Amino acid sequence: MTVHHQISDGLLAAYAAGSLSEGWSIAVATHLALCPESRARLSRFEACAADMLENLEPDTSGVDDAWAALQSRMRQTSASGTRQPAKPPASVGVLPEPLRSYAGSDADGLKWKALGRGAYQIVLPTADHETTVRLLRIPAGKPVPEHGHGGRELTLVLDGSFLDGDKLFARGDIEETDENLEHQPVATPDRDCICLAVTDAPLRFKSRLMRTLQPLLGI
Ligand code: ZN
Repeated sequence: MTVHHQISDGLLAAYAAGSLSEGWSIAVATHLALCPESRARLSRFEACAADMLENLEPDTSGVDDAWAALQSRMRQTSASGTRQPAKPPASVGVLPEPLRSYAGSDADGLKWKALGRGAYQIVLPTADHETTVRLLRIPAGKPVPEHGHGGRELTLVLDGSFLDGDKLFARGDIEETDENLEHQPVATPDRDCICLAVTDAPLRFKSRLMRTLQPLLGI
């Protein structure tokens, strides 16, 4: 069975509340454009939240209890739903909106900047001073240099796929990582993997060469 990697409840809730900064919001909105299951979760989430607010007693439980109750309601309503594979129409292209507007064109019209070893990137400008948003193109069958994270990292697959350990991430799948994880994703051999990566701190590369080149490469 193929496992689809969707965004966490916490991130979805923050997106619904409008509390995410621009970089994270681009990743979540683009994931939602590619993932009908997450769109359905967002709708259920908003419906549950509105329902609970309607019935909330002013002097009842604290925020933590309300959040636990909301998650429980979400699980109950989602358990009965059927899972559908993410298959966007061909007209969507590699970069769906809102990402394509940020990039200025679809993937094949972009001016990719070489990172070495066949990898390329494009940093997308945002007004957000908290995150860095970039498109990455990892050559087929090749690994990303092994690294840890100084903060949160969201990686959304737009084309091709990658393996992180035994987990496969394909188009529309999103990986959430943080300071507690070190990893080395590897593009699958069928074709180059294009991802959107959002970070709020520099990566921590294992290799001394990568650490030396890091300021020059801007990653
Ligand atoms: Zn990473």
